[in-house]
Amino acid sequence: MSEEAYLDVSLIRCPRCGKLYVDASWYILDMESDIECGVCGSEFNTRKNIVRRLMLKISFDYENNLRISYKDLGKD
Ligand SMILES: [Zn+2]
Repeated sequence: MSEEAYLDVSLIRCPRCGKLYVDASWYILDMESDIECGVCGSEFNTRKNIVRRLMLKISFDYENNLRISYKDLGKD
């Protein structure tokens, strides 16, 4: 039996200091919200600062080891 789950995430980068963040893609693409950078305090729009969108695949192999892989979905 194959056990797997998926999570669509987007990497975003603070335009001021370069700090990298990750969040659920629906939150970034549908809500288009602004966030405050925890490092430099700058406020920026998440959707406009997407670096990459990734589909994470989380699964267990036949020995019950956790595996995480991803598919690069590009920028948007
Ligand atoms: Zn910052």
